[in-house]
Amino acid sequence: MRDFSEYRGYEVYGLSVVGFVKGFAAFRSIATTFLMRENIGTLDREGTIVIEPHGWYPLDGYLRAFNAIARETGESVVRQLGVGVMQNVHWPKEADSLEGMVRLINVGYHMHHRRDGVPLHDPVKGLTPSLIGSYEGRKVSDSVFVIECANPYPCLFDQGLVQGGLRRLGVKPGSVTVTHEASRPCRAKDGESCTLRLQLGPGAEWGIRSRVSTRPGPGIRF
Ligand SMILES: [Zn+2]
Repeated sequence: MRDFSEYRGYEVYGLSVVGFVKGFAAFRSIATTFLMRENIGTLDREGTIVIEPHGWYPLDGYLRAFNAIARETGESVVRQLGVGVMQNVHWPKEADSLEGMVRLINVGYHMHHRRDGVPLHDPVKGLTPSLIGSYEGRKVSDSVFVIECANPYPCLFDQGLVQGGLRRLGVKPGSVTVTHEASRPCRAKDGESCTLRLQLGPGAEWGIRSRVSTRPGPGIRF
């Protein structure tokens, strides 16, 4: 089983882990089991996991937890974790539209990871080259965007991440279809990346301005 030891020294921001736990909804005890196995978080008196939203947690253990979940639960659970994370993390200010989300997802990703105590995104210097890879979002046509996900997270997690982003932006359900480019590699099949296609339906528009805050909502502590 992959141990992700190449990511030692890397950490993930607490808000992402909080989103992960929230993704389990009523089944929080399952999240507790998988994360505590990797020594992520602490337990309160009731035996429920406590994640510090502004803390930092080891990335290798976090990725092992994903692997175990993918193996021991269903696909819908992994997808739901992506939805939970995207709805809880900080977004760059300019990501308050569909187009902004696609273009800035990589900045948001780097904002929530650090190496040896140094964040991988600096507001002045930009992104630091690292092993965590990227999300490369680009416009293909007036009605199609693609996001190439070349990072150590699972394929289904990233599909959920995009769906969670659409929800947070208040995009009308069904007006944007998210599919995996079948002709492109897939990390679930030993590929290096996955390419997700966002297709705008009739009547929908890119660049919908959202009134949704780019700051995470209340209730991020358990
Ligand atoms: Zn894939």
